[in-house]
Parts: sequence; C-alpha cells; structure tokens
Amino acid sequence: MKTCKEVHRLVIEGQDRRLPLSQRIAVRMHLLLCDACRRFEAQMELLRQALRRFPGD
Ligand SMILES: [Zn+2]
Repeated sequence: MKTCKEVHRLVIEGQDRRLPLSQRIAVRMHLLLCDACRRFEAQMELLRQALRRFPGD
C-alpha cells in the first residue's frame, strides 16, 4: 500500500503524463480507502480545470 505522500505525488504526476497501469491501480486502491487523498485529488482536478480555463499564463 502506498503512503499518502506517494499518492499525492502520483496524482500530480498523473496530470502531466500518463502513469503506468500498475501505478494508476495503486493510486485508485488508495483513494478508495483514504478520504484525505480523495479530497486532495478533487482539489487538484479543480485546479487543473481552472488553469485550463485561463491558458497562456
Ligand atoms: Zn491517503
């Protein structure tokens, strides 16, 4: 099982590049069990969408 710190890093990395399948599964499994990381991922997703809305900065 990955630590929250590792999952946070992988969530951020996964926004820039496609993670290997094994890593994506490990993150998914962790998110199923961990509220804190689910919230972190949701926040990162919101941030990414917000940045996408204002390109060229
Ligand atoms: Zn976690």
